[in-house]
Amino acid sequence: FITHPINVGLILVSLKMDEDTVIAGLLHDVVEDCEIPLSDVKNKFGNNVSRLVDGVTKLLQLDEKMKDQSQAEHFQKMALATAEDVRVVIIKLADRLHNLKTIEHLPRDKQVKKCRETLDLYAPLAHQIGMHKMATELEDCSFKTLHPARYKFIQDALEENNLNKKTLISRVKKSLNARFKKNDIEAKITGREKRVFSIYQKIKKKKFSFADIYDVFAFRVLVNNAEDCYKALGFIHNIFTPITGRFKDYIGLPKPNGYQSLHTSVIGRHRPIEIQIRTMPMHEFAERGVASH
Ligand code: MN
Repeated sequence: FITHPINVGLILVSLKMDEDTVIAGLLHDVVEDCEIPLSDVKNKFGNNVSRLVDGVTKLLQLDEKMKDQSQAEHFQKMALATAEDVRVVIIKLADRLHNLKTIEHLPRDKQVKKCRETLDLYAPLAHQIGMHKMATELEDCSFKTLHPARYKFIQDALEENNLNKKTLISRVKKSLNARFKKNDIEAKITGREKRVFSIYQKIKKKKFSFADIYDVFAFRVLVNNAEDCYKALGFIHNIFTPITGRFKDYIGLPKPNGYQSLHTSVIGRHRPIEIQIRTMPMHEFAERGVASH
């Protein structure tokens, strides 16, 4: 009983949430499950914490009324309205994430129900508020429980792919690094981790053949400021041949949700390579959405 709230608190700490949110995370189940009146929470921890705890409790009652995916959009609207404070939603997502990580302790029918609900309601909600990293974690955990064999198949393919292409990856990195250094651009180049569930969805919608997993390489370049993003782009297009129609300037023209980055695809060592270029604050926002504020 204590392990769960502590872990929810820790997830909120890892998201760098404020003190009130972490406290409310620790207390999120006490009103619902322990018959502690909200007034006790208010007296001991103040108005802000008690409002957050109350919000999470109300959200819990809301998800019990939702049945299926057709209600997903309705759920998102209701959840954001019911919560009033978006931190309530963040606590609820942390709660759900820890539930999924300990899901093997539940009977199979409850596992399936929780995972479906997560894929139908909570992961889309997390995407909606820009918490893409949380969303993909929720998706991958649920997918792994629902379809262990499919999960393993894709996961193994991804690992094998990375192993086989180690030389390619390090060569691309090397040429980029050398050019950036020569031109005094401080850059961090990382391979982009692909998420199992999003690949599964693309395969299922037949927008993606399995061979595509072996073909696409994705890099991310993090630099110090927006100006360096454009400079880095220039050098990348100078080293590798850009692919027509794949360049997007989301720094000059951010997406409606505020997302910023430069996207390009180039041919490197006879293979298509996707590259995202952004600054650290842009990166934080892209991964953590509202939680990055
Ligand atoms: Mn809980």
